[in-house]
Amino acid sequence: MTTESSYIEVAIALPVFGTYVYSIPKDLSPLVSTGKRVLVPFGCSRVTGYILGESNKNDQKEIKTILDILDEEPLFSSCMIPFFRWTADYYLHPIGDVIKCALPGGLNIYDFSIMTLTKKGEAAIFENSLTPLKSEVLNVLKEGPCRLKEVCKKLQRKIPNALIHGMQRDGLVEHKRMFKGGITKPKIERHVSLVGSGIPMTGLSGSRKKIIETIEGKGEVSVKKIKTLVPSASKIITHLEAEGYISIINKQIYRDPFGEPINSDTPHRLTEEQHHVVSKLKASLGGEFSAYLLSGVTGSGKTEVYMQLAATAIKAGFSVLVLVPEIALISQMERRFRARFGDRVAILHSGLSAGERYDQWIRIARREVAVAIGARSAVFAPLTNIGIIIVDEEHDTSYKQDSRLRYNARDLAVVRAKLQDALVLLGSATPSIQSYYNVRTKKFKELTLTKRVEKRSLPEITVVDLRQSRDVRGSRRFITPQLHEAMETTLGRGEQVLLFLNRRGFASYAVCSVCGEAIRCKNCDISLTLHQKANAYKCHYCGFTRASASSCTHCGSSRISLLGLGTEKIEATAKILFPHANVQRMDRDTTRRMGSMVKILKGLRNQTIDILVGTQMVAKGHDFPNITLVGIICADLSLNFPDFRAGERTFQLLAQVAGRAGRGAVPGRVILQTYNPDHFSIISATEQDFQSFYNAEIGFRKNLIYPPFSRMVQIKISGKNKEKTRHHAQFVGDLCNEIIRTHRTLSTSVEILGPIEAPLFKIAKQYRWQILLKGLKVKPLHQFLRNLWLENLSKINRRDVQVVLDVDPIFMM
Ligand code: ADP
Ligand code: ZN
Ligand code: ZN
Repeated sequence: MTTESSYIEVAIALPVFGTYVYSIPKDLSPLVSTGKRVLVPFGCSRVTGYILGESNKNDQKEIKTILDILDEEPLFSSCMIPFFRWTADYYLHPIGDVIKCALPGGLNIYDFSIMTLTKKGEAAIFENSLTPLKSEVLNVLKEGPCRLKEVCKKLQRKIPNALIHGMQRDGLVEHKRMFKGGITKPKIERHVSLVGSGIPMTGLSGSRKKIIETIEGKGEVSVKKIKTLVPSASKIITHLEAEGYISIINKQIYRDPFGEPINSDTPHRLTEEQHHVVSKLKASLGGEFSAYLLSGVTGSGKTEVYMQLAATAIKAGFSVLVLVPEIALISQMERRFRARFGDRVAILHSGLSAGERYDQWIRIARREVAVAIGARSAVFAPLTNIGIIIVDEEHDTSYKQDSRLRYNARDLAVVRAKLQDALVLLGSATPSIQSYYNVRTKKFKELTLTKRVEKRSLPEITVVDLRQSRDVRGSRRFITPQLHEAMETTLGRGEQVLLFLNRRGFASYAVCSVCGEAIRCKNCDISLTLHQKANAYKCHYCGFTRASASSCTHCGSSRISLLGLGTEKIEATAKILFPHANVQRMDRDTTRRMGSMVKILKGLRNQTIDILVGTQMVAKGHDFPNITLVGIICADLSLNFPDFRAGERTFQLLAQVAGRAGRGAVPGRVILQTYNPDHFSIISATEQDFQSFYNAEIGFRKNLIYPPFSRMVQIKISGKNKEKTRHHAQFVGDLCNEIIRTHRTLSTSVEILGPIEAPLFKIAKQYRWQILLKGLKVKPLHQFLRNLWLENLSKINRRDVQVVLDVDPIFMM
């Protein structure tokens, strides 16, 4: 945006709907551009806003003037704005907060910019050609680099950022943004190469000679490498550079999550199936929206498809966005994309520090990279000219954000592709019912990979009926003889075992044997889980802990029986049954720190771990060729959830876990233990048969008019005071009914269920209620929401009871 116009449209980072018009003072006008942040007066305070573009509408009653421009360069380009507007509209969320959620965190840290005087600035002090304020600033900086805040203090007045930016632009000062928590520096290695035609070798010392020869042989070598050959190389290299024989350059080194350098790789020769898929996708690439679902069994080489497609897109001048479920997977995807595309890749995820995230973001905004890879929030990455958006493991529920802006990144990826005329590719071995329904209704086109690469077979699955060991005591109840025997054989061959149970802790129910009361959380309506290692009972919802020696709060008895399994118990049992094996556990308790997760993955890769016990974390996309046995301890845990997606989750989880077996040259085996061997989710998972699962599940959804046959919105009402919360829930429910009564057309298309108490009625001292809205079509449902939300906002929002909307909810407990 060049600004002839003197008005701009600004989205305010506050919970207000709609945008505002502001005018621009003359001196700031050259600095205005879409995607920069501004400081604006709003009510009686000053707030951050985002420039959405110029505006000529001045029907707004009072137009205020912006105070300052906060960014040197835009944080996003104008092509993002329709996408932000769509998101705000669909999720009924203030647009300013949508943008705030989209941008990398930790941006509001302007005080941390350090300024230094340049040579030109120094000269300018004497030339007397500057405004008094500029001269004053330069005079302060003459005494040494300093923060903007300190300059303000010394001059006893506020200095607009825009002034500093202007001075920076004129080359008078240098201005570097610093971050709280320190800057993390990229890993840099020094490399050397020869300059000109070389050095006369006569009369050189042995060390010098060796260094020169090494460089000559390789063209360019890292100093680190030379030092392994000539320990005293540092000094000599400095001399050689000073004498003009060699040049030293700094190169950024990319490392994989294991801390090892990533070697570049070359594309695989595609299998026939892969080739077919890639050529179909290539044909759809280029300036037009299209949506594909790639269902490919585990290990069928989906990532290779993504990379070859990406390469084609990049060649054609497009950028590529890749979404991945969570940190561990990002690092795998990152590793593989880096190996192929080097530093043309930017990474965005929560594992980065604020400074790193900001740097990555800016690299994308400046178009310095062609590929951005990240977790759900990367759907907002400021790429321009997007050719493809890839959503790997599209079924994964971690694409759903469950706080503030409650969006689903998978759904937004499709929307973004549509708005920006791109191709969107959703990939999974276990597609979501939603996406497959979109295939059946021709919204998406289907592509399939039915075989694993290199003729590796899918694992053979044996079902063990746990009902038969109901009366067995001890560990044989859950590590059945079949599983035990298979583990023995596998370990005997030097291969690895994965044991899966989707519950943490040692015992999930602790019950008083005298009065029968469960040991419950103080803050939640939930029983506590015993964690043996931590020596405590813990609440999995609010973190409350009680000493494990506690007695019954009800009758005081100390006779507590422990029921229900968790991963901690499986780990302990495996250690007893296989004393020579190295048993490790991967769940939220053992991977709180990023480093510990990496350590476990490394142990798996280096085969120092023999048995890995884990929760759903182990189900996700990992590729470990030496795992040849997967034991599913109890397949039924997720089946009994009061949630209409329980069957879908169970199928996905089981099929994914089973898919971890036999990814290398040796075929894999799965022992699946269950109390429900006849349940269709479990049968289709054991047969790895998505089609038959879909056919059964879709019938059930249709009968009960659940998504994808309807759309849902959940109104979540919570508060500390039990009565007030119930009362307000009732009030919001009455409002809903009132809207239906007064808008006849909505009454046939929107159904109101509730208000009812949430299944988890009390979490972290908050009482919880919910109202479920169900609509056969999106439009009337959204009309209803706008009526409810926008027109009654002041009545709905209360200080003591919180009400939030969750459009397309996934976690409904
Ligand atoms: P998926 O993502 O479908 O589970 P991956 O992309 O992880 O499968 O592929 C599984 C393994 O097969 C990887 O180690 C990958 O490098 C390898 N691979 C993929 N495509 C080919 C191919 N065309 N030829 C040989 N190996 C391949
Ligand atoms: Zn008791
Ligand atoms: Zn709790």
